[in-house]
Amino acid sequence: MSEATGEKAAPADYFGAYGGRYVGETLRPALDQLEAEFAAAWEDPAFQAELGLARREFIGRPTPFLRAGNASRALGGADIYIKMEGLAHTGAHKINNAVGQALLARRLGKRRIIAETGAGQHGLAAAAACARLGLACRVYMGSIDMARQRPNVFAMEMLGAEVAAVETGSRTLKDAVNAALRDWSASFPDTHYIIGSALGPSPFPDLVRRFQAVVGEETREQMREAGADFAALLACVGGGSNAIGFFAPFLDQPSPRLIGVEAGGRGPTPGDHAARMGGGARIGVAQGYKSRFLMDGDGQLLPTHSISAGLDYPGIGPQLASLGESGRLEFTSASDAEALAALRFFARHEGVLFALESAHAAAAAMRLAPELGRGRAIAVNMSGRGDKDLFITAKALDRDNWAAFLQSEIDHA
Ligand SMILES: *Cc1c(COP(=O)(O)O)cnc(C)c1O
Repeated sequence: MSEATGEKAAPADYFGAYGGRYVGETLRPALDQLEAEFAAAWEDPAFQAELGLARREFIGRPTPFLRAGNASRALGGADIYIKMEGLAHTGAHKINNAVGQALLARRLGKRRIIAETGAGQHGLAAAAACARLGLACRVYMGSIDMARQRPNVFAMEMLGAEVAAVETGSRTLKDAVNAALRDWSASFPDTHYIIGSALGPSPFPDLVRRFQAVVGEETREQMREAGADFAALLACVGGGSNAIGFFAPFLDQPSPRLIGVEAGGRGPTPGDHAARMGGGARIGVAQGYKSRFLMDGDGQLLPTHSISAGLDYPGIGPQLASLGESGRLEFTSASDAEALAALRFFARHEGVLFALESAHAAAAAMRLAPELGRGRAIAVNMSGRGDKDLFITAKALDRDNWAAFLQSEIDHA
């Protein structure tokens, strides 16, 4: 016991050595209040009923579970199934968390929402949830990201959100998180901060996992209905919210294998990838939580690269870091080129366009299926659909035609 060994029992807001609440005094009251009120809401049947209704009629749940028969035959080996999370409203799993937290905010009497966004997918989900629930929404976004992701800025504004340009630091996602935290420490009496992944200071990692666990709960039921022998589940890992949601119902049992797929980018050189668990990450504290980060010896976050904006982040959610260390989760990576190849493969064979993030999980599934052999099955979480990536995939796969199209848009603008 702790007294005998002198060890401190890990507080509930830690996952093994990771997690915690590394914030200044001004943010503590906001996090304390959120923790208490979320616990009460979660136990309240009225809140669960509201959440269930929003999932059905707004998000479009349950999302389908597709048996990828053509792809499986072409690869030879285990049967691949795809959890079609990209068919959720706004095109990705992010809406599960955004709607859950927006409902929570409304219950708490908070009329204003803030959120951070990198490529814009979380901002889009938050903006849609706020429009639906009649909440004001301000999305912090680095000015460099705004320039790179103009279509999503436009979409957020169409949904009534105000997109606030962040001009500090590298003017990208991590600076947007800092700006949102700064706003919240002054505004929390009437404002809720919807963080976009299963990370940040406690209670966010646990709260986001609970809103995303619906993905895994549906999948478990759909696996049962499929009646196949599932050997492994695969999900891509940026901050980790789609992965922890997909894996959540299986964490306390030894099987199936749970495999997180990180961004291998252009290669193993620092700055060329975003593989935290796969190599190079250090234990550190950043953005309010303790986890594994790609950082230098002084604790400065390193630049990362991935063809998929959603995986291009130096940190990983604390629960995933802990599960990786305990061995319950395996980690692998897929390169930019492998993700693009997987995208094309599933598009041709199944008529399904994966988001670039999710295509990393699909690439790992393509490697694993032939190894496992016939009679087994694996399930891949397609965390998003690929429509949002057309500007990137067309540039990568069909450069000349795409450049001609863009030029004609300019000529006729
Ligand atoms: C944002 C995003 C991700 C990465 O975020 P996680 O929190 O790791 O899930 C993955 N897939 C899609 C489609 C995304 O939009």
